[in-house]
Formats: sequence, C-alpha cells, structure tokens
Amino acid sequence: MKPDTPVQYLKGIGPKRAARLAKLGIETVEDLLFHLPSRYIDRSNPVPISSAQPGQEATLVVKVMGSTFRRTRSGPLVQILVADSSAQLYVIWFNRPDLRGRFKPGEKLLVSGQVTFYDRMQMVNPFFERLDANPDFFERPIFPVYPLTEGLAAWEVRRAANRALDELETLPETIPLELMQRHELPGIMQALQCVHRPKGMAEIEKGVRRLRYEELFYFETLIGLRRRSLEQGIKAEPLVPEGKLTKSLFKALPFELTDDQIKVIAEIGADICGKGPMHRLLQGDVGSGKTVVALYAMLAAVDAGRQAVMMAPTEILAEQHYEGWKETLEKIGARPLLLTGSLKNKDKEERREMIARGEADMIFGTHALIEENVEFCSLALMVVDEQHRFGVIQRAALASKSEARPHVLVMSATPIPRTLTLSYYGDLDVSVIKEKPKGRAERTTELAYESRKEGVYRWLEERLTQGDRAYVVCPLIEESEKLELSSAKETFDELAVRLGTEHLALMHGRMKAEERTRAMEGFRKGEVKVLVSTTVIEVGVDVAEATIMIIMHPERFGLAQLHQLRGRIGRGQRPSRCVLLMPSGLSPEASQRLNFFANTEDGFLLADEDLRIRGPGQIMGTRQHGLPDLRIADLIRDSELLVKAREDAFEMLEADPGLRNHPRVAATIHRRHAKSLELLGAA
Ligand code: ADP
Ligand code: MG
Repeated sequence: MKPDTPVQYLKGIGPKRAARLAKLGIETVEDLLFHLPSRYIDRSNPVPISSAQPGQEATLVVKVMGSTFRRTRSGPLVQILVADSSAQLYVIWFNRPDLRGRFKPGEKLLVSGQVTFYDRMQMVNPFFERLDANPDFFERPIFPVYPLTEGLAAWEVRRAANRALDELETLPETIPLELMQRHELPGIMQALQCVHRPKGMAEIEKGVRRLRYEELFYFETLIGLRRRSLEQGIKAEPLVPEGKLTKSLFKALPFELTDDQIKVIAEIGADICGKGPMHRLLQGDVGSGKTVVALYAMLAAVDAGRQAVMMAPTEILAEQHYEGWKETLEKIGARPLLLTGSLKNKDKEERREMIARGEADMIFGTHALIEENVEFCSLALMVVDEQHRFGVIQRAALASKSEARPHVLVMSATPIPRTLTLSYYGDLDVSVIKEKPKGRAERTTELAYESRKEGVYRWLEERLTQGDRAYVVCPLIEESEKLELSSAKETFDELAVRLGTEHLALMHGRMKAEERTRAMEGFRKGEVKVLVSTTVIEVGVDVAEATIMIIMHPERFGLAQLHQLRGRIGRGQRPSRCVLLMPSGLSPEASQRLNFFANTEDGFLLADEDLRIRGPGQIMGTRQHGLPDLRIADLIRDSELLVKAREDAFEMLEADPGLRNHPRVAATIHRRHAKSLELLGAA
C-alpha cells in the first residue's frame, strides 16, 4: 500500500464503508492515518459497577441482561440493564431508534460515560463497544475513539486504521531532519503508531505533538510561500518618508504625536523606501489615533508625486475622514477628494475623471466603490481602514489596479489576536499603537439589569441637562435589518416620551446616506443629544463630546464588537460611562462573558477571549484566505507550537526559497497542498 492508495483497497473495506469514510474526508490510506482519535479510553482498569460514583466518568466492562424500547414525550428511548459481578446498572440512549433490539442478553459490552443518579444508578448516551465483535480489543490497555459518521462503528474505523498501519509500506518523512532533532519530534511512522496504537498516555502526547507541529509547519510554509510570491520580482514605487507635505502635516497638527504614533510612522517610513511593497497591518484600539498615521503614509506618496487612497467600510466613515481633514490637507497643499456611492452620477463621473487625470491625489471613499470602478492615474499607496476581515485574495485584486504594486496599510481597531496575525494574517507586518493620546478622561463600563432601565433613563435625562451626549445602541439581530430597525424604533419612541423628539435622532442602515449624514452632523454639532442607533455606528465614528453609551441586549454582540462600540465614547476630556442593559435569565456563560467585558479595557485580551469562544472561523469571516483548514492543530491551544513552526518555516524559506535543499518539504507540499498553492497564487 502506498499513501495515496484509496482506502477501498484495504482488507475489510468495501465500496460501502469507503463511501462512509469519504464522508469524513477520508479517501486515501494517508487520509485515514491522519484521521486522529478525538479521545482515548483507558480500559486498563475498568471499575466494577459498584464503585462507580455518580457525577464521574467511568469505563465499565459489563454483560447485557435485557433491553426495552419505549416512545416517550422526548423521543424514542432504548434502555438496557447491564451487570458485572458487583452490581447492576441501567444504560439509556435517547433518540437512537437504530439501537432498538440490537442488544442480546449475554452480550459483552464496554460502556464509557458519566454515571448519574436519577432514582437509580444509570448512564445516559454513553460511548459503547461490543466486545464479542472485536476480540483484539483486549490486547491494548488504551484504545482510541475516532470521530464517526452515520453507519460507521467505532471498531470499524479502528480496524481500518490498524490495517492501514500494518499494510502501508512507508510514509515519506515530511519534516526536515534538523527540525525533528531541534524539537525532539518522533518520525512520522512512529508518531502515527503512537496516536493510533498507544502503549500509554505519554506516547499519545508525543505523537500528537509531532502531528500538530507538522500541520502548523506546513501552514506557515504556505504563508511564507505566498508572501514570497506576492513580492517576487515586484518593485514598489519608492515614496518620500520625509518630504515637504508630511513635514507640513506634523506642523499643522493641533496636538503632539504619541510615542507609539512616532514609532509606527518610522516603521512605515522604512517600509516605503522602495525595497518592496509595504504590507503592514496597523492595530490600535479605537481612539488611539491611527488616522494621522495613515495620512502621513498617504502624504509620503503625494510627496513622491503619486496618488494615495483611503478606503473605509462605510460612507459615514469615508465622509468623516474627508470632512475632518480636508481643510488641513488643502492648506498644506494636498488635493483631497471624496468619492462615495451616494453622490449624483454626474458628480461621481466627474470625480472619477479627476482621479484618472491625476487632478486629485488623496482619495477617500468606500471599499466597494473604489474596488469596483476607479482608474487611478498613479496610485502608489492604499490605506484600508477598519477592516479586520480583509482577505488576501481581495487584497491581490485591488493591487492589480496599478502596474507596480502599491504599498498597503491595513488598519484595524478590532485587536487581532497574535495567533491570527501569525497565521491568517501571516503575510502582513504588524505595527501596534498601544498608548492613547494624553488627556483622555476615564471611561467606566457597568452592567445593569433591564429592569433598571427606568433608573438609567432618569440618569440619562439628568446628564443631558449637564451637556453630555449619548449613544443608545440597539441589539444586533442577525440576518435581519428589518427587526433591528424595529427594535431601534421602539427604543426611540420610548425615549421620545421622556425627552421629546427635539434632541433625539434615529440612525440605521436603511436610511438614505444623506439622512444619516444629517443625523450624524446633528449629533456632532450637539443639536442632537441622543443618537439612537443600530450597529451602523460601530466603526470609527468620532464625536469627542459623546460621553454616554447605553447598549441594549449586549449579550447579542461579540466581545470585540462591544469593545468597538464602547470606543465611540471616552474620546474627549470628560469622564464617560458605558452601561450594558442586560435581560435577566442569561446563561452563566453569557453573564460571565459580559462581566469579563465590563472589567477588561485591554482590547487584545478581549480579542483572545473572543477567539477562544467563537473560534477563528467566526472572526475571520468567509474563507477567503485560501489556507488549508487546520484539522489537528488548534491556533489557540497550540499557539506556542505555532510560533516555533513559523520561525522554522520562515527561516527555511529565507535560506532556501525554492526548497531545492528541502526535497521532503517540496514533495509534501505538492502532494498535500497542491490546491492551496494554486489558490494562494504561489504554484
Ligand atoms: P482611531 O485610531 O480610532 O482611528 P482617530 O485617528 O480617529 O482614532 O483619532 C481619535 C481622535 O484623537 C481624533 O480626534 C484625533 O484627531 C485625535 N488624536 C489623534 N492623535 C492624537 C494625539 N497624539 N493627541 C491628541 N489627540 C489625538
Ligand atoms: Mg479610525
């Protein structure tokens, strides 16, 4: 047998079993061997029933005494009575009608699960194994339990894996010898033996660690290859790090730059000198002052006689950037221009032509608009604001707009956990602004029950008379802008009864852009004191006088998103307060999560927690990164291994970009990752 032999050729696996294995993504012998057990059962000391404790996991070897089947209100129920020499126990399966009549008195079983006490000792929906059917079972003290699919029994997968191990001639080693030695990793065949036929728990650890490392090593190698292919032979236009316009900008600022801002500006300055294109991710909490840094980068392009563009996710943001900086930019001699979808067609056309002719050099607009249909005259740098779901492929599409590759600065206020910047964002350099501008007053966050809403409103009313301004954010309703809007309207009406409508405005995603701008402007000027809003205010909106935020149904938001929202306040010199109004009866996890949020100001900690709770898939959005799924390793659990794997992979590629001296690696990539390679454009 060879690694790529279809599983069907294994003894005991016919077309039917092969089809079921295929459902688990197993087609070849190699796939089968990399289908790892999800857990192990140590049957070396099965306990007698009489010593099993309620509430604890137990593995028991028992005999079937009799079985019954009933339909109950909660579904079909199969119950068997089992016994060993010490006692009896009931074993129950809910919703497994397929098990009806499948247990014969006298049959020997292994059952493993939690023992509970409910009038009597029982075990509900345990893992089970028919011992008569596979006598080899008693040869090993520890046996693996594999993820299964319908119609496949545990022993079938186990037997198949065993056969594969026996019959496979050999599997080519995949990790360079030097790295195996450095990290004390076993060889591939040994590792597979360890995980499929362990002699003890320590062996499992050893085997699993090697397989995780291997997966991460290839993951990082693909990232490294992608990065190289993006940059191969590609020159970027050298910009001017210390030119006339950037200097004038610094002079024109009404504040001193923070040390972090200065540091990041230096990092960008070094990137844009012309070695290759900049690929930098700038992370900084909301309000940390990323925009000036971006303007610096853009002006460095203009100083070089080229164009730069800043793309924002929403029109509100694009307008805010443009309106907020237009005057300063024009004064120092740049030519800013705003391009948004809501402009009249004629205006849009006119502005596009100005861009094409090079009559504007700093363009502000939305992602969508600019990606679709703008011809630049001499684009040399792009800034992508507030985009934490920016996939590589999308980035590549945009980059094709200019002949030499433009420099790219991606900015995100949603802190991206380090594990993700090392993986999915692995081809970006990372800058971080940690320090906030000086003179910001304190911001507190507190939880209150919805039943206290009246009190909160009364407090709000009083604060308004003191000149405060407030956001009231209405719950996120997945998939339904309509429901989201109706809940916002409800809150708006509630508040209108108390406060009147004069200083109250409603903002949501279905409003025309003009209306939204009007509401926003009103709030900025202070004519509107309370802005009731759906989540459209999430990103980037900047009104320093806003000091209060009330969030309804905070449990519906992710932590990172709550943090984004909260970032709208606490930008000025007055202390500010964020109140989360939560319904009663939340699950313990949900209230724990909100408590963690209320007590944590560090966006990176929140991001890590978010990642842990929701997993990378949720955070990354759709799969546009072209990287393979991780099946064995886990970015969070294995973050230390990830760091090592990255260093190793990058070091290897640095010394040997064509992998000529690493035939094992080259062969493995072509065998396993041909598709990713193609997607990444690194073939
Ligand atoms: P974000 O990082 O969220 O995009 P902004 O760039 O919008 O933050 O900055 C938030 C506010 O802080 C803006 O009003 C900006 O002008 C101001 N600001 C930026 N840098 C400083 C600084 N060094 N000192 C004081 N205020 C600053
Ligand atoms: Mg911003």
